[in-house]
Amino acid sequence: MSTFVTAIRSFLLLEVLKGLGLTLKYFFKPKATLNYPYEKGYLSPRFRGEHALRRYPNGEERCIACKLCEAICPAQAITIEAEPRPDGSRRTTRYDIDMTKCIYCGFCQEACPVDAIVEGPNFEFAAETREELYYDKEKLLSNGDRWEVEIARNLAADARYR
Ligand code: SF4
Ligand code: SF4
Repeated sequence: MSTFVTAIRSFLLLEVLKGLGLTLKYFFKPKATLNYPYEKGYLSPRFRGEHALRRYPNGEERCIACKLCEAICPAQAITIEAEPRPDGSRRTTRYDIDMTKCIYCGFCQEACPVDAIVEGPNFEFAAETREELYYDKEKLLSNGDRWEVEIARNLAADARYR
């Protein structure tokens, strides 16, 4: 009997029709995939991406060289050197992050008293060499300048939970 039913089903192409029906059903539904990199998915304001050093609106660096981020980093990825400026303010002369060591825990951002070091929304910073992932102060500040609008918006959205 089952052989007979299987033969009938094969003869009528029922499995093919069933497959086409399924295709038709999903054809008109919203797509579950994105056309990356032209389309990008939602990112939480708490997303921990590429690091950046921020400035105040007048262009002054936020970082006061307190070294809390360096002390708390569990991967020991941050290296800071600092000295006072002629006006007495304390600023870094060197701020490096070895991104090959970083585990994106976000502790540096949490520890910073002036919201200087942050993990921004950028996740597209793959590199071809390790050297490109040794970030210096200039690179981190340029990241901050590039992403300041998005970073400020994300920090404001998350402020009530901090
Ligand atoms: S995210 Fe974590 S591991 Fe990476 S630099 Fe900050 S504290 Fe270190
Ligand atoms: S980034 Fe923040 S925590 Fe790190 S040295 Fe500068 S002010 Fe201190």
